[in-house]
Amino acid sequence: MHKSGLWKYFSTTTPPTYFRNDRSHRAAWCNACLQQYVTNGRELDALHIRSGEAEATSIRSESELRQEGGYIDDLLKFRD
Ligand SMILES: [Zn+2]
Repeated sequence: MHKSGLWKYFSTTTPPTYFRNDRSHRAAWCNACLQQYVTNGRELDALHIRSGEAEATSIRSESELRQEGGYIDDLLKFRD
């Protein structure tokens, strides 16, 4: 099946997350929004470490931040 070139702008999950109760359309997150969340998260973690509020071990990895970003995006998108 042909996959649209637009998919390069979006991320999906493995295993698949579906959109609401839909069993055939996968939920997708915009890469630009996820990247923005990762960038903000990294700056925030660095700030917390510099100010002594957090330990270096509490720095979130890129994949953790992407997961968090996807979850938050999901909440915003699905809120009525
Ligand atoms: Zn976006």
